Amino acid sequence: MSKPLAKYVWFDGEIVPWEKATVHVLAHALHYGTGVFEGIRAYKAEDEVVVFRLREHIKRMVESAKLYGFDLPYSDEEMCDAVIKLIQKNDFHSSLYIRPIAFKGVAGISLDPRPIPTSVSIIAFPFEKYFSNEKLGLNINVSSWRRIGEPAVPGIAKACGHYINSALARAESGDAGFDEALFLNSGGNVCEGTGENIFIVKDEQIATPGLTSGILNGITRQTVIALIRDWELPFTERDIARSELYTCDEAFFTGTAVEVASILSIDRKRVGDGKPGPVTRRVKEAYEQTVKGLNSKYLRYLTPVYGRQQVVRATSDPHR
Ligand code: PMP
Repeated sequence: MSKPLAKYVWFDGEIVPWEKATVHVLAHALHYGTGVFEGIRAYKAEDEVVVFRLREHIKRMVESAKLYGFDLPYSDEEMCDAVIKLIQKNDFHSSLYIRPIAFKGVAGISLDPRPIPTSVSIIAFPFEKYFSNEKLGLNINVSSWRRIGEPAVPGIAKACGHYINSALARAESGDAGFDEALFLNSGGNVCEGTGENIFIVKDEQIATPGLTSGILNGITRQTVIALIRDWELPFTERDIARSELYTCDEAFFTGTAVEVASILSIDRKRVGDGKPGPVTRRVKEAYEQTVKGLNSKYLRYLTPVYGRQQVVRATSDPHR
């Protein structure tokens, strides 16, 4: 077994030692991908730890389960409470990644998930950067694989099985020497990364694919859209053609794990001048402030773990 990332794990309603949080090899989810999950971050903010958009992540997890025809056996409040209690029990005081998962456990080999009880687990562990080699930004490729989605599966769900598609593209991309892959959807338009949404900027117009393009509706994406709207910058959610990728001025990924990551090249073609552009830098900086409670407008996004103090000072956006 790999080295424990935490002392304790929340598993089916109890906090148990890491070693006890195990699943039988006949689990339905292991064979058939029948589970839904979330990726959440918590940030160290002064001497508090704050969970970013916890309720929204839990809500998306419940909706992902609904799309696959099952309910979580715990309420949203119980799930949020479990996340906080788990962090407290582990006595974590650094930035964290939090991974709740609800999945179909052991029955026989029948594909029908309906009679199978749903197990729920939450893991939280110290975490900083997703891309260890990310310096200024990422060099990515357009995957030869298309993004999984409708009409075969509800792509808007964050379901375990969907990630076989991400893993496939990510491995292909890595083999070819890229940092990350970008998917097109079945219609041939720009979709998303293996675990990120994408934004492009061209002639000061910002665009990102809309929900009908088969993306996961990223919570980071929603946060970035809120910031862009606050700044009243020209912005649209629309179909983006593959060819637009090669002539845009800036491109960046958003996602809980990657946060805001500048894209420096796509298919070895430089984006803009090959350095993070002004919109990307502004979004990245504002996002970093927002997650740490330095944007007074979005304090409601933060759930303090230890509840010791008011985490925040005033907004300090130098661009306003
Ligand atoms: N698309 C996919 C396929 C993802 O896995 C993720 C990560 N959850 C995202 C987009 C970004 O979503 P979020 O900002 O909520 O992390």
